[in-house]
Amino acid sequence: MSEAVQQDWQRRSLAAVWHPCTQMARAQDVPPLPIARGQGPWLFDHQGRRYFDANSSWWVNLFGHADPGLNDAIRHQLDTLPHVMLAGCTHEPAVRLAERLSARTSGALGHLFFGSDGASAVEIALKQSFHSWRNRGQTDKREFVCLKNGYHGETIGALAVTDVAIFRDAYDPLLMRAHIVESPDQRLGNEAQALAAMRSLLLARQGRIAAVIVEPLVQGATGMVMHAPSYLRSLRALCTEFEVHLIADEIAVGCGRTGTFFAWEQTAGDQALQPGDWPDFLLLSKGITGGTMPLSLVLTTEAVFQAFWSQDVTRGFLHSHSYTGNPLACAAANAVLDRFDAGQLRANQAQSGWLTEAFAPLAADGRIAHLRQRGMILAFDVTPRVERFSEAFHLAARRHELLIRPIGQTVYLMPPYLIDAETAAFLAQAVRQTLDEVLHAA
Ligand SMILES: *Cc1c(COP(=O)(O)O)cnc(C)c1O
Repeated sequence: MSEAVQQDWQRRSLAAVWHPCTQMARAQDVPPLPIARGQGPWLFDHQGRRYFDANSSWWVNLFGHADPGLNDAIRHQLDTLPHVMLAGCTHEPAVRLAERLSARTSGALGHLFFGSDGASAVEIALKQSFHSWRNRGQTDKREFVCLKNGYHGETIGALAVTDVAIFRDAYDPLLMRAHIVESPDQRLGNEAQALAAMRSLLLARQGRIAAVIVEPLVQGATGMVMHAPSYLRSLRALCTEFEVHLIADEIAVGCGRTGTFFAWEQTAGDQALQPGDWPDFLLLSKGITGGTMPLSLVLTTEAVFQAFWSQDVTRGFLHSHSYTGNPLACAAANAVLDRFDAGQLRANQAQSGWLTEAFAPLAADGRIAHLRQRGMILAFDVTPRVERFSEAFHLAARRHELLIRPIGQTVYLMPPYLIDAETAAFLAQAVRQTLDEVLHAA
């Protein structure tokens, strides 16, 4: 196929498709890359050029593209039962998925509510938290706490607990007021300070706060800001002390991304997590279907579930989405869990090791700072200030067979779980060449 075909799709897309997270007036400068097909970690354009999907297409394609196992599971479900509503009906893929995820928390989070995307899972958790306190007569508990620079999605409720100016500012007048507290950042070494700030807020607003929401271990959308599990352990203790729900948003960091199936598991010391060590809500989306079907999940405790248990309909959680518990999406999620049952975490450990090795030389590069990694997330900050760095890097990387979108001056990899020593070396080289090009041109 030809350059002309490629350009035709670009032109038609810019005319008819309103692209997400994009200023359309500037999209001419960074035209969308028409992708014809995907295979494993590679995406192919209409001219047959290939690109390594280094960010797993916004962190969802855990096993790359067109994975035969996931596709078979969906195909089988497609021929059996593509959809049925989950109110008044139930089906095997939903039940199995709920049971398997509950088992992964040893039953601590034994009740699963389905949403359609990450933002809807956040909305559900906020509503369930508020409503469960209300059902218990604690109607004053209706405030939420989030962390500075945290990201939890972009619908009105989720945006209220998101602190990323570029997504939030225009809509600020519409948003419910949440408390924004200092977030831990290993680059700053401010964990104790962040915990002290949290304690003083929980103390000052005692009896009024419903829940604290956090991204465990890695704040993704703000630029892969990492903190230690010890912060989460202390936060859990604070929330228990002040009787506040803790919502762990594992939409990005769940499903093995950080080295354990749930990032939260890393808060366990040498001993297994006890039921009270888990968050009150745990959210999954993105990777749970491996980039095949939209799905999100809200896992919660017996205590939250019991707060809704009543003969009074209005004390129930009456929330729903049209595609709640879609069987195709559940079948895909079950196929993803099959991988973890078969030892995916061991494979990830080896893969993250290869990434560490391949990128280690970058640590000595004076143009970068804070090379950091947690499992299958690797990031660094580029220190020389470059105008529109992210766009420039993204465009230059295309010439090195790399699809990657930095966040501000932070370059990160969140690759599919398909890394070997060779691809790790390829990625490190492509990133370095792109960096040389972008900084040289600047
Ligand atoms: C992506 C993301 C969301 C929102 O998910 P959507 O599917 O984009 O609505 C929420 N929280 C975190 C941590 C995310 O990374």
